[in-house]
Amino acid sequence: MAEFGTGFLGQEVSRVVGAATAKKLGKLGVATVEDLLRYYPRRYDKPGKMTTLRELGVGEHVTVMARVASAEVRTMRARRGAILSVTISDGLDALDLTFFAKHPGVLQGHQRKLGVAETGLFTGTVSLYRGKRQLTHPDYLMFKDFESEEQAIEKSKLPMPIYPAGQGIATWHIAAAVGVVLDQIGTEDWPDALPEEYRRDHGLIGGREALESIHRPQDLGQVKRAEERLRHEEAFVLQTVLAQRRAVLLSEPAVARAARPGGIRDAFDARLPFELTAGQREVGETLEREIGDSLPMLRLLQGEVGSGKTVVALRAMLQVIDAGGQAALLAPTEVLAQQHHRSITALLGPLAEGGMLGGAENGTRVVLLTGSMKAAERKKSLLAAASGEAGIVVGTHALLSEGVQIPHLGLVVVDEQHRFGVEQRDALRSKANVTPHALVMTATPIPRTVAMTSFGDLEVSTLRELPSGRAGVATTVVPSSNIRWVQRAWERMRQEIDGGGRVYVVCPRITSSESSASVRAGAASDAGEDALPLELSEREGEAQGPGDGPPMAAVEDVVEMLRASPALQGVEVAVMHGRLPAEEKDAAMASFASGVTPVLVSTTVIEVGVDVPEATMMVILDAERFGLSQLHQLRGRIGRGDKPGLCLAMTSALEGSSALQRVQVFATTSDGFALAEQDLQLRHEGDVLGASQSGRASSLRLLRVLTDGRIIEDARVAARALIARNPALAGEPGLASAVESVIGQETAEYLQRA
Ligand code: ADP
Ligand code: MG
Repeated sequence: MAEFGTGFLGQEVSRVVGAATAKKLGKLGVATVEDLLRYYPRRYDKPGKMTTLRELGVGEHVTVMARVASAEVRTMRARRGAILSVTISDGLDALDLTFFAKHPGVLQGHQRKLGVAETGLFTGTVSLYRGKRQLTHPDYLMFKDFESEEQAIEKSKLPMPIYPAGQGIATWHIAAAVGVVLDQIGTEDWPDALPEEYRRDHGLIGGREALESIHRPQDLGQVKRAEERLRHEEAFVLQTVLAQRRAVLLSEPAVARAARPGGIRDAFDARLPFELTAGQREVGETLEREIGDSLPMLRLLQGEVGSGKTVVALRAMLQVIDAGGQAALLAPTEVLAQQHHRSITALLGPLAEGGMLGGAENGTRVVLLTGSMKAAERKKSLLAAASGEAGIVVGTHALLSEGVQIPHLGLVVVDEQHRFGVEQRDALRSKANVTPHALVMTATPIPRTVAMTSFGDLEVSTLRELPSGRAGVATTVVPSSNIRWVQRAWERMRQEIDGGGRVYVVCPRITSSESSASVRAGAASDAGEDALPLELSEREGEAQGPGDGPPMAAVEDVVEMLRASPALQGVEVAVMHGRLPAEEKDAAMASFASGVTPVLVSTTVIEVGVDVPEATMMVILDAERFGLSQLHQLRGRIGRGDKPGLCLAMTSALEGSSALQRVQVFATTSDGFALAEQDLQLRHEGDVLGASQSGRASSLRLLRVLTDGRIIEDARVAARALIARNPALAGEPGLASAVESVIGQETAEYLQRA
């Protein structure tokens, strides 16, 4: 909000309200005058229409409208002091209000104000006393206490805004503060963020009017019109940010790198052991065309786990190499980078031995660059990248560091964008002297409108079909309390291994000795490395908190248990998690892939992209601890070859709990898009855009990305057209400052994370 600093809107709220109120507003996230104006009511009550008291939950902070039924002061027998007991009613149900004081006199003041049969608003936190719900020392506002009778009559006709209130600050305090501000701002303080033409085309009211209507409506129709207008505004501002970013990226031309017949890509196609799917071919053609043009490609490729994105990306990289360029593949974890390096090298075969004895004539080199590499190895990779000898450089964040040079970088492929910020993408782009083409891949299916909001600066391609010949995965929920079933699971595991298969056993944490808090902290610090934290911690409130319920399965304990299990006698069990040194991780993956250790007990570090075609079975312990899309990602690790997969989701979630429901949904469908939609329904709006987008999410108050798709589409088209015409937003001061504000929040949050 600092961008508004010069005007009235950027001033601290303490300029318009008392210091004590300002402090309480601060706790609600309201720091500036503008924040206050953007703090919209949660609902509107009609005076005279009582709140249904029956629905109030214990522990909730509530504001209710009700009538006083009785009010009595008593002195307490057990302790010194007096008590005022008030009962309020909505006509059907009752709620108690309780006030304590040393002297009855203090209470008589309240009693006088709380006249029997009078109506008012009461606010406080619902607690339970002797089986009855009550508010202790509630704040209240009686309608008869309005300044004048006319005013009371007038007010009683209007919808009354009810704000999300906090401890010590009632909704009417917020309304009063907003009122003070509204009386002071004119249209010149609040230039419209929506261009006039857009407003006219969509029949929307002005920005200043919308604020007045949402805070002080004459009727509910006004509220609706205000909300409609503000939703469009939120969408339009965000799409303008994205359109501007896109315009900047597109303004510096890339090198057009057309496909070259008879080159390494054709040689690769000739040695592919399978046919490309129709989707792979179609996306491939789009990429070929876009990379062959000097307009930089900015494309998001989404596709189910195992839909064959890697092959598509690799073919695009080979096209670039054919045109004399280099490609970089950026992976979110060391394990993934190593795996990409291994599988790309394997797919290329002799084509990856360029310049070496026996290597193909058209060949190139694939090098790996990660943070944990030994100095000598690292130096070799750096040299190969800098000399242009390596056509493909695969790496983690280490690729972003300053010493890395990839002079002919023509294409950047980012795997699993949701773990990367825009900033990293830009850092990588700066490795070349010329803007490279960019391809971002994600295996988390993203509904279209969400994609437009989170990745609005990218065009989206989707791979919907899986390569044929996949036998699929059957998923079964196993209650951990059923000892016989659990035993059966280990025996089933043995059969799988005897048949030549591999089994993943996934646990929500590494050791059992750590406290729940350190699980979260540890996981978070592991974030670049180990995929565990985000979803898990987001979910904890929803699943059983770590404090209650049985302790979570830990890799270290489960390994011991399996090694001692009679069913698995003679079977080697390996360990994998984010805290292992890189060589150990690499070794564990390699011996699992080769079958030396056919059981791998792991954290979610294997979540993304790990590819061992022989893996046929997965046991997920405490499955309720994971989010839906995370479970789906995990399951995608098996059934990748021609043998059917078996996934056992073990859970101690209680019958009827939402946690168990999630695990059951997971077991009944393997359609990633359906699961992603379900997952989003279960989440809050802010989470929909992901943690890295929270600056953006916090600029969305009324817009719902799942249901406001039409608004988002309209705003996107119009914002792109506006930026094409008027990139500097000349003559649109309202829009320009709103855009600044979103960027400011994103930057602030980025800096906080960095
Ligand atoms: P993703 O990255 O989308 O999860 P991958 O590219 O890793 O998927 O592909 C998964 C597996 O399927 C790999 O072993 C890959 O070689 C194989 N594969 C890719 N495309 C095809 C295809 N058209 N037909 C058969 N197998 C394929
Ligand atoms: Mg992949």
